[in-house]
Amino acid sequence: MSAPHPYDALAEQLAALDPRALIYVLSRVLPRHQDFTETGDMRTTMVLAEATVWAEGRPERAQSTEADIALVAWPDARYVTQPGVGTQGTCQACDVAVNSIATVAYCPVCGAALQLG
Ligand SMILES: [Zn+2]
Repeated sequence: MSAPHPYDALAEQLAALDPRALIYVLSRVLPRHQDFTETGDMRTTMVLAEATVWAEGRPERAQSTEADIALVAWPDARYVTQPGVGTQGTCQACDVAVNSIATVAYCPVCGAALQLG
């Protein structure tokens, strides 16, 4: 049996959270992991995404990939209404599909305020 990894305890704590709590925690952490090119013309940021995989047949509205992928919007805690990421929308500023646990949230890519649902 291998030795426990130093982050195993943290991973167990995160795994025990309900989706709302996990999204809240990650919304405080992932945006801090951004990289910029030396010229400043490109930025990368870490995001959380939700993938929906269809068991059989594809609804017509599904994207053309094997799974529908939407980024998880960072919630405004005052407007959390969903137990899961059931509110869907699109960021008007950068045109990414987002799912949210709140009717008011922020785009994880550009930070724009989103009115959803
Ligand atoms: Zn955006």
